[in-house]
Amino acid sequence: MTDRRTGVATQAEKPTAMVDCPVCEYSVAAPRWRSSKEYTTRRCPDCGLIFLPEDDLVADDLQRLYSGNEVSTADYYLRTREADLLHFSDLFARIERRMRPGKLLDVGCSVGTSLELAQARGWDARGLEPNPRAAELAVQRGLLVATGFLDDSFVANSLGNYDAITISDVLEHVFQPVRMLEHCHAMLADGGVVAVTTINVDSWLCRRFQVKLPEHVIYFSARTLRQALEKAAFRSVEVSPYARERDIASMALSTTEMGGFERLVSSVARAVQPLNRIGMKCLKFWKDELVAIGVKSARGSDSGRRAQP
Ligand SMILES: [Zn+2]
Repeated sequence: MTDRRTGVATQAEKPTAMVDCPVCEYSVAAPRWRSSKEYTTRRCPDCGLIFLPEDDLVADDLQRLYSGNEVSTADYYLRTREADLLHFSDLFARIERRMRPGKLLDVGCSVGTSLELAQARGWDARGLEPNPRAAELAVQRGLLVATGFLDDSFVANSLGNYDAITISDVLEHVFQPVRMLEHCHAMLADGGVVAVTTINVDSWLCRRFQVKLPEHVIYFSARTLRQALEKAAFRSVEVSPYARERDIASMALSTTEMGGFERLVSSVARAVQPLNRIGMKCLKFWKDELVAIGVKSARGSDSGRRAQP
């Protein structure tokens, strides 16, 4: 389609551009995967990663999205506290199978639900959060949370500092996920563990409800997530499809492509709590997320691409 006023081709119609894949760095005319009114995601023909090319969005827009409490809002994460506690219990249990509690960083900790739980399990936990409203709420509750993005200066001050790093519901928001994982690798001590959760594009539920442009810019499959972790020099990588109990009533709040049917289901779920609870269990069937664990082995930094904090 062409814009009637300007005669310029809309984003969805523009010819396939040459772009660099954020995981395998293959420079290709990546075919379109899915388009919204303004944005078009691409599928890397080499590794299969689905992504929104960085050039399609002004970086300031993304900065504003998070710093301005517009997406991943503090209110949303206050409402999902119950489900988040279950989710982080599972995540910490996976880490604790490999190590005893030590020093932990949660990247993108929002209101700090993860940190509260980590402390109760014996971790010396702190967080990093770009949304000042969410970070402030966490600090008010006595949690150690710095406001900001995972930038070079934060990484330079934290080299080798942590035994475990969690990145939950974050990687799908960043244009350079491998770089973020490299940063985590640099901040871990030898033998340290990174635990990642992100949306799983191989799942129907994810493709139906999690395609949010430009909020979600990277759509991993188990294969491409493994590739990203290994590229960031992590070893003993384990990736599995994953699902958390999700509150149907809250899904409406986080879903931009909500149709009439989903709106109805959500309203009914909100009105009838027992139905909502049954729905929370049922949704786990689709495994719309991935969970991955990677280890920084003592020899890990000798192979793969070196971290460049
Ligand atoms: Zn690729």
